[in-house]
Amino acid sequence: MSATAAEGFGRRAAALLRSAANDLKRDDENAERDLGLEPGTFADHTSGKRPVDWALLRRAAEVWPLNERDLLPVHDDCPAGLSVLRAAESLAGSRVLARGGEGYYEYRDTAMSRIASYRPEWIRMLRVVEDNSADNPRVQWNRGHLLYQFTYFVGPVNYYYRWGDTSYCVPMETGDSVWGLPFAPHSFTARTDSEPAYILALTYGGGLVGDAQRELAVLGRRPAHDLALPVAGSPSSLPGLIRSFMAARCVTPAEIADRTGLAADRLTELCSPGATATETELALLAEALGVSVRDLLAPRSTSHHGVSIQHGRDARSWDYPGKDDPAYRFTQLAGDPLHPHTTALQVDVRATTASDDARLVTHQHQYLYVLGDAPVEVAWEHDGQRRTDVLEPGDSAYIEPLVPVTFSATGDALPRLLLLRIAGAVTPEVRHALGSMAQGGIDRYIAEDRLWYSKEGN
Ligand code: FE
Repeated sequence: MSATAAEGFGRRAAALLRSAANDLKRDDENAERDLGLEPGTFADHTSGKRPVDWALLRRAAEVWPLNERDLLPVHDDCPAGLSVLRAAESLAGSRVLARGGEGYYEYRDTAMSRIASYRPEWIRMLRVVEDNSADNPRVQWNRGHLLYQFTYFVGPVNYYYRWGDTSYCVPMETGDSVWGLPFAPHSFTARTDSEPAYILALTYGGGLVGDAQRELAVLGRRPAHDLALPVAGSPSSLPGLIRSFMAARCVTPAEIADRTGLAADRLTELCSPGATATETELALLAEALGVSVRDLLAPRSTSHHGVSIQHGRDARSWDYPGKDDPAYRFTQLAGDPLHPHTTALQVDVRATTASDDARLVTHQHQYLYVLGDAPVEVAWEHDGQRRTDVLEPGDSAYIEPLVPVTFSATGDALPRLLLLRIAGAVTPEVRHALGSMAQGGIDRYIAEDRLWYSKEGN
């Protein structure tokens, strides 16, 4: 960790300590007594003058009802807003993993950041098969894994996936892509060794890694199963949500019938499998339960047997920002409405100079990999500074949310990029919460710097 990075980490730890003490309604004297600190020193810890060290964390987690993790900030490994991993660094970390005693895949890490849940790997298929059978015994299956997986295919790669007891094989070509759900077994092989056959396996945790996983691990197996809600299209998606809110509010069907003016019979129906509601009924239920209509709407998924496959040959492409002298041609890659904040794009860069119209800004985290043979110039703005870099084929990058970025060609050869954008922990719920805070709230939320009241009084 550089001195600046360590300083930032220390500052964020100090702010978390103050924030946690405020939550627990401890002023400095109370905090000092609880934590066994010298009188007058708590303010030094919350201002960054003294470090929040392991001993302090351990003591806080012992005497206060919180976790060490609650007081630990994350590392900022992307101080410039964009960080690059060169192809050579990627290659240096190459490792071959064997299945059944024989090398099966060559893995290379590509750009990752501690700020986002990406675990993007470049993976080469070492196993060559002679057929497209899902039951080929030379195919080595994994056991599935936690992370969602977006995969972009390069070359003659066979993709295998299993859902329930059925296995499938889909022969893929360059430009094809797939999005897959957690824990479904899958595999990849090459159809020939006479040309490159590899994938960009961009796995990410979405909302599944982090606090939710830790909370459910404590609650246990049974609650975790009971908390699972079906997506739209299931007979129990609407009744599941309605019943969940009714239990939360401790209300009976008779009480909701009274509040909504709906007939008791109709309410029983709405709470039973197969129920669908009219817009008017949804509005009445939302009002009666004190929620928003969107809280009663399950998200939909277009995945089939756990995957959403998008072949390049029938993928939608469009020019950006317009048809005249476009800066880019985008091609829509695999995705799923279950993840509205994931966007996968193939980017064909068209211009050697990028105008302001070509600036791309998103609330999502971004991952970028240079496909093809042409280098790309990347320009971005961060902390009021404009920066540029040239990325060569095989280089990859991570870009923080809201960092404006443009891509342009460095010569006649037109670059092709793979862009995967994902949501972080700042979900729409959090963004709406930010948008509804009292004045000055957002600044204190990200770096609490004071006791929640004034000792001197107002
Ligand atoms: Fe995988």
